[in-house]
Amino acid sequence: MQGIQMVDLKRQYHHIKPEVDAAIQNVIDTTAFINGPDVAAFGKELATYLGVKHVIPCANGTDALQIALMALGLQPGDEVITPSFTYIATVEVVALLRLKPVFIDVDADTFTINPESLKKAITSKTKAIIPVHLYGQSANMETILAIAKEHNIPVVEDNAQAIGGDYTFSNDQKVKTGSMGLIGCTSFFPSKNLGCYGDGGAIFTNDDALAEQMKMVANHGQKVRYYHEVVGCNSRLDTIQAAILRIKLRKLDEYCDNRRKVADFYDAAFAKYDNIITPARASYTKHVFHQYTLQLEGVDRNKVQEKLAERGVPSMIYYPVACHKQNMFKGLSDNNFELPVTDFLQSRVISLPIHTELTTQELEFITKNFIEVINELS
Ligand SMILES: *Cc1c(COP(=O)(O)O)cnc(C)c1O
Repeated sequence: MQGIQMVDLKRQYHHIKPEVDAAIQNVIDTTAFINGPDVAAFGKELATYLGVKHVIPCANGTDALQIALMALGLQPGDEVITPSFTYIATVEVVALLRLKPVFIDVDADTFTINPESLKKAITSKTKAIIPVHLYGQSANMETILAIAKEHNIPVVEDNAQAIGGDYTFSNDQKVKTGSMGLIGCTSFFPSKNLGCYGDGGAIFTNDDALAEQMKMVANHGQKVRYYHEVVGCNSRLDTIQAAILRIKLRKLDEYCDNRRKVADFYDAAFAKYDNIITPARASYTKHVFHQYTLQLEGVDRNKVQEKLAERGVPSMIYYPVACHKQNMFKGLSDNNFELPVTDFLQSRVISLPIHTELTTQELEFITKNFIEVINELS
């Protein structure tokens, strides 16, 4: 079998081609390339979908996080708590703004912030907490929000991998991921669950004043044109991307369902193998499976990847080096974080193809080959 990819954007496009092509052509015909009507319309539609008051579209997910931290008015040296087991963007913006990343550990089963680790890391200098809903599963937000509230620390959700996901509080209140913290951030990178055809991102909040501040920061620090109140940046979502996202937002729930079906198939196929640990599903959330990430027990992961590739099955390691071990943080003062769970996971996770268009035939091929390779190497 040929052509299996981690993410297959071409096939997805073919299903929505007439709509997408017409939307792109419309933007070109109207030449409303910057801040055209689709940008505001998409922002409103996404706000309705998420159940938040304000959505501020921006240029990418990294900018979304940066603008959020800038708008909170943090000062150099302020501490920001984040997991180390995440994509680098989460912590890079912290360092870029001369804030101090404080890395904490994650839970071995959900890959998201460990509340005990969070409690221990809080000091009088902690000025923000960034939980990451890694691989598409919400962090334990009820506990995290309670800890944050107790210390009066703002929570910025990194929802780049979990858009479309939800969270159910113990009082049965059900909300969307990204809508629980003071600020939520997301990315529309093409391979994300809600991806555009280039770069894009957005910031969410229910706080009116903060929304104004973030809009201003993203627009060269101006509210009135050519009158610059603060040092900001230039971060806009292109109109063409917004037009595409309006179409894909209407499909997001279906896309998440398709991803869950793939995960169900994998879970069932691997259930009886002790050395393949399938991803845990927390009871408080609906996993949207941005990635399908397994842990391998006592099997050489590099060899697994090699043998899978020979058989035409791609796989990826998200991420081969945890953030606190990256060279970019070598110079960071007191960077002596002990994160045993992060180190443990980083050495044994492996992700299999998952996207909205995988066929049963392809899934059978992937699981059969994966099991054969694991048996061979065990
Ligand atoms: C993709 C991603 C980002 C950054 O998004 P970009 O649009 O690529 O800048 C941030 N955090 C996480 C967890 C991500 O997966």
